Amino acid sequence: MLSVAEYLDLVLDSVSELPAMELPISDVNGCVLAQDIYARWPLPSFDNSSMDGYAVIAADLAHASESVPISLPVIDDIPAGFKSLETLQSGQAIRIMTGAPMPAGADSVIRVEDTDGGSGVVRIQVPIEVGSCVRREGEDVQAGDLVLTKGTFIGPRQIALIAAVGHGVISVIPKPRVAVLATGSELVEPGTELKYGLISDSNSFLITAIANDSGATAYRLPPVQDDEDALIEILQDQVHRADLIITTGGVSMGAYDPVKSAFLKLGTAQFHKVAMQPGMPQGFGSVGEPAIPIITLPGNPVSAYVSFEVFIRPAIRKMRGLKQLERPHRSATLKGELQSPINKVQFARGRFMAEEVQLVGTGQGSHVLGGLAQADALIVIPVGVDSITNGEQVQVIDVRGDLT
Ligand code: AMP
Ligand code: MG
Repeated sequence: MLSVAEYLDLVLDSVSELPAMELPISDVNGCVLAQDIYARWPLPSFDNSSMDGYAVIAADLAHASESVPISLPVIDDIPAGFKSLETLQSGQAIRIMTGAPMPAGADSVIRVEDTDGGSGVVRIQVPIEVGSCVRREGEDVQAGDLVLTKGTFIGPRQIALIAAVGHGVISVIPKPRVAVLATGSELVEPGTELKYGLISDSNSFLITAIANDSGATAYRLPPVQDDEDALIEILQDQVHRADLIITTGGVSMGAYDPVKSAFLKLGTAQFHKVAMQPGMPQGFGSVGEPAIPIITLPGNPVSAYVSFEVFIRPAIRKMRGLKQLERPHRSATLKGELQSPINKVQFARGRFMAEEVQLVGTGQGSHVLGGLAQADALIVIPVGVDSITNGEQVQVIDVRGDLT
C-alpha cells in the first residue's frame, strides 16, 4: 500500500506541463502566460480628459465664483476618438468628452457639472488646479515596460492589461482538454426511469464539473458498459482529442472490472492501493501515440470526488503550468466526533461554521452523496490517529472555489 504523498508523486510525474501555443486573447482566460508581455505603447497613450467637460487654461478661471462666473467662448468640440485641430488660446474653452485627447494649449478640464453646459459660450463658477481632470500619457505604463512576466496566471484583469498594451494573440500554456468517462453496466443517463438494479450516472457530471472548475476544458462522454472492447474503442478515439483521460469505476477487485485490462492492452497502467479513506483503489498510466495520460478513479462518487481533489486537481494544475499545485490546508476546531482507520489518511466531509468545522452526512461511507453535497471542507485525519473528539484541532482542506 502506498502513502497518499507517494502516490501523488507518481501521478504528478506521469503528467507534464502542456506545450505553449498562440491563442487570441479572447481564449486565454485561466491560462498561464508562456511569454513576457511588454507594452507596445504607453498607457494612457496620449494626454486625455478623465471627465466630460471643457478643456481650458486653469489660470483663466482663477477668479471664477458663483457670484462672478467666467464666460468663455466654446471654439470646438472633441468626442472620444477624435482630435481637435485648434490650439486653445487664453480666454477660450473646447468641449471635450471622457477619453478624448487634450487639445493643444489647454492645461486642464473643468467638469461639465461645474458649468452651465453651454455649447456656444460656457459659464464657469469655480476655479480649478492646473492639470485637473487630465490623464497624462504614460502615467500608468511606459512604452516598453515589462507589464506581465512568463508564468503569470491570466485572469480577466490581466487580459484587460494585455489588450490595452497592444497584444491580440499571445503565447500561453493552454487549458488541458480532459475527457471524462464513467464505466459501469449499471449506469443510465440521469432523468431516465431506473430499472431495478440500475443507477443514474453521477460521477461523470461531478468530475466534468470539477475538472472545469480546476481550470481544464473538460467534456463528458456517455457512460460505457463494463465491456473491454467498448472501452477500448472509446479510448482509441479520445487519444486524438484529449490531453488527459479520466475514468471512474471498474478498478476495484470486482469480477467485471474492465478498466484495468483495457488500459493494459492499450498502453501502460499501474494500479495501486493507497492508504486513504475513501479512495483506496487508484490507477494511472498512458494510452496512444503520442502517449496521453489517463487517471482511473474509483466508482463510488465520494471516493471519486476525494481522489480528484487529492490527485487530479494537482495534476491538472501542473499541466496548466501553475507552480502551486495543492490546495492550502488550515486548522479548524472539529464540532463532533470521528473515528478513523489508524493506518490510513481519512478525508472526512465537513462544513465550515466560522472557525469550526462540522461533520456532514449520514456517516463517512463513500456512497454518501447527500453529505458530499453539503460539504465545503475535507477534514484530514492523518495516519496514526484513530479518533478525534469534540473540540480538537484538525487540518482541513478548504474546497470552496478554485485557486488561481
Ligand atoms: P466500481 O468502482 O465500478 O466497483 O463501483 C463502485 C460503486 O460506485 C458501485 O456501487 C457503483 O455502482 C458506483 N458507481 C460506479 N460508477 C458510478 C457513477 N458513474 N455514478 C454513480 N455511481 C457509480
Ligand atoms: Mg463498476
